[in-house]
Amino acid sequence: MSDPAQEKTLAEQAPARYECKSCGYVYEPDKGDSKSEIPSGTLFEDLPTDWHCPVCGVRKAQFRNIGSTGAPSGFQENLNYGLGVNRLTPGQKNILIFGSLAVAFLLFLSLYGLH
Ligand SMILES: [Zn+2]
Repeated sequence: MSDPAQEKTLAEQAPARYECKSCGYVYEPDKGDSKSEIPSGTLFEDLPTDWHCPVCGVRKAQFRNIGSTGAPSGFQENLNYGLGVNRLTPGQKNILIFGSLAVAFLLFLSLYGLH
C-alpha cells in the first residue's frame, strides 16, 4: 500500500473530529467507533449514512465539525522557521563578535599608537 499521506500537508493529515450536538460525544477518526464496528482511521465523512451516535443515537446530521486535534497543524512551518533562524544565527553572531573584536583591536591600536 502506498503512502498518500506524504503528499498531503500536515493539516490535511489530521482528520477532523466531529462532536455530537446532542450529548457531546466526539467521534475521533483515529479511534473509529468500536460499538458500530467502524475501524480506526475512518473519516467521519466516510461513515455509513445510517451511522448514529454510539452514546445517544442521533444521526450524523446532528454532529458538528470541531476540527482536528490541531497538534500537527503548522508544525512544519514552525520547524522550518526554527531551522532558518538556527542557520542564520551563527553567521550573524560571528559577524557581530569578529566585527566588534576588530573595532576594539583597531581602537586599541590607535590609542596605543598615540602614546
Ligand atoms: Zn450523542
